[in-house]
Amino acid sequence: MELAGTLRILVSWGQIDRILGRFSTTEAHAKHSFSKLSKAADLKEIRLIENSTVPVNGHDATLTHFAVTSAYPVFGKYRNRETRSLHVHCEESNRFFILNLSTRVNLQSSEAASAFEKLRESFVCH
Ligand SMILES: [Zn+2]
Repeated sequence: MELAGTLRILVSWGQIDRILGRFSTTEAHAKHSFSKLSKAADLKEIRLIENSTVPVNGHDATLTHFAVTSAYPVFGKYRNRETRSLHVHCEESNRFFILNLSTRVNLQSSEAASAFEKLRESFVCH
């Protein structure tokens, strides 16, 4: 897919047994990530668009869709980005995954939505 410069995908992961004491569900895990991000100093505004449960490779994953405005204007303009964040807990591989797909807001939102769907459908954790 060619969306150079407009689309960013970031995947982070870790061992699930290290976080299960704090986050027994992907909802709790996603809520924690979102509230941590809300306190970031470089953000002017963060707005939740959608929060839902979606299937990922047989798991119930939590989707958090939000828009952010950066705190520092560039050439007099505040930059806006839209992010779809997926929290997946995979007991089979003992790993949790956080998939973030973010785009500039001026990108057609249907393009971002279809890129996200492809990522969600093709992701294999175990
Ligand atoms: Zn899995």
